[in-house]
Amino acid sequence: MADIRFDGKVAIVTGAGVGLGRSHALGLAARGAKVVVNDLGVSRDGTGSSSEAAKAVVAEIRDMGGEAMSHGADVSDEAAVRDMVAQAMDAWGRVDICVNNAGILLDKTFAKMEMSAFRKVVDVHLIGSANVAHACWPHMREQKYGRIVLTSSASGLYGNFGQSNYGAAKAAMVGLMNVLHMEGARDNIRVNTLAPTAATRMTADLLPAEAQELLAPETITPGLLYLVSEDAPSQVILGAGAGSYAETRIYETAGITLMEDANTPEDVAARFAEIRDPEGQQQLGDAFGQTKKYALNAARAKGLKLDW
Ligand code: NAD
Repeated sequence: MADIRFDGKVAIVTGAGVGLGRSHALGLAARGAKVVVNDLGVSRDGTGSSSEAAKAVVAEIRDMGGEAMSHGADVSDEAAVRDMVAQAMDAWGRVDICVNNAGILLDKTFAKMEMSAFRKVVDVHLIGSANVAHACWPHMREQKYGRIVLTSSASGLYGNFGQSNYGAAKAAMVGLMNVLHMEGARDNIRVNTLAPTAATRMTADLLPAEAQELLAPETITPGLLYLVSEDAPSQVILGAGAGSYAETRIYETAGITLMEDANTPEDVAARFAEIRDPEGQQQLGDAFGQTKKYALNAARAKGLKLDW
């Protein structure tokens, strides 16, 4: 297999001063990309700000002979993000790869969470990712080339106690990916979601010491590099950590159809096991795949002909 390279490509990596973002930025630069190292330099809960970490990563990239610039945009600030993308365009004339990685945590049980903390986390993860992708989008369309990665989390895909804000924001990455995948396809823009699990300051107090070594961010970056490569897939949710890779998929069960005379809550309750039966479950291609399936089921049950 040919080496995966990024020569001539320009990448923006958000939250790239430390942790996973730093590892992704170094990985891209090591394979030839010019990299915008974005970081607001905040603490884990989003407080403070500093340009030092991003500048240090830029220095590391330059030391290995690569090209990089830092930018301190807060990803939730649309104007600052537009400035960042404009600076990349001014310096290098294109933006090929957009890695949305910046993130914070403001954990509390839902009972104790202030809505301001809920909104703040959604702002950084979801609105921040949309801001960066939106600013890159017209350039990618014009170039007929773009690779976007959104960073989700097992917390959003499967749930994690105390993370209603973070879990909701991280699950939203899948919705954003699904639609950007469809809208980007004709312009060769591919959009994927990474669901990493790594030992970083974000998880420092949660992992046993031996697991921390196994879960180094560098074990995840190869997966990210594939997701933004020339031959990348699109609309994939890739779980990655400690060298393990797996795909998360959303399926719909075959289900049942209840007609008017027997479509009561009691009927639903009585047949709930059948509704949930995984036998014959399928991935649906798009939202209308579901509408079509249900309309066809109903037509079949009523003996009607429906050409769709
Ligand atoms: P980290 O805390 O080590 O790094 C996050 C970086 O994002 C920091 O450098 C921070 O300054 C930056 N940042 C935060 N808010 C920003 C903003 N508004 N604008 C620009 N930069 C900002 O975290 P990490 O563990 O490396 O996580 C990276 C991404 O991976 C996050 O999106 C996180 O939610 C996700 N993730 C991490 C894990 C894990 O196990 N570490 C698991 C699932 C998902």
